[in-house]
Amino acid sequence: MQKTALVTGGNRGIGREICRQLAQQDLTVLLGSRDLAAGEDVAAALREETGGDVRAVQLDVSSAADSERLRDEIAAEFGRLDVLVNNAGILIDRGARLRDVDVDDFAQTMAVNVFAPLRLIQTFLPLLEASGHGRIVNVSSKMGQLDGLDQPTTAYRFSKVNLNYLTRVLATQIDGSLVKINAMSPGWVRTDMGGSGADRSVAEGADTAVWLATLPDDGPHGGFFHDRQPIPW
Ligand code: NAP
Repeated sequence: MQKTALVTGGNRGIGREICRQLAQQDLTVLLGSRDLAAGEDVAAALREETGGDVRAVQLDVSSAADSERLRDEIAAEFGRLDVLVNNAGILIDRGARLRDVDVDDFAQTMAVNVFAPLRLIQTFLPLLEASGHGRIVNVSSKMGQLDGLDQPTTAYRFSKVNLNYLTRVLATQIDGSLVKINAMSPGWVRTDMGGSGADRSVAEGADTAVWLATLPDDGPHGGFFHDRQPIPW
């Protein structure tokens, strides 16, 4: 049976590339975009390029109403969800130190990068368990590694530290034989967030997320990966 994947922030950057690579592997891809029209344009381009089944779905990850509506639609159409990729993220405090970061920016960063993935996991976990082979991929960053404590861009780092922590804790609370949850770092990637000077392509950045999204049943659970290798938290 064809597997179904939901990718948040699928309309551009690394998320778009994750959608493309999953479509190439014959998964049905639900391309999440908070701007549905933008998502539909990208989905059409990816259908054309891959010949796969890519469908745009409206999803602002900060909206509980969006998540619940989408869960009901996916339950009605598929009865399960095989893959959830929490890719959508923001970086709005570049260069800021904790002593002077805008607290509202901090809260917004946490809302999108941490609380939204948590809500999506809570909302979709029953459908992922119904898959019997569910996979959750949290797109994190090496900027969330604990050895970066002296570095600026504090709110973003703090959010990725917390996304990693969330991954580890949930791995202890989710039955890994039914649903595997892992975090990954794409590296520094040429996107709107990473900028044109980054050293990696979106294809390189997306690869490990796609690998984790399509893990076999004996694959890892509760890990943090870069280029398909475990890395320190
Ligand atoms: P990007 O080019 O800035 O794209 C961000 C994506 O997230 C867009 O699709 C954006 O949608 C979406 N998004 C943001 N807020 C959202 C919301 N509230 N609801 C739904 N979608 C939302 O970023 P990227 O470089 O592809 O990054 C993707 C992920 O990789 C992020 O989690 C980021 O932290 C991580 N990462 C990136 C790098 C890098 O070097 N690029 C390095 C390490 C980790 P809109 O188009 O609607 O804004």
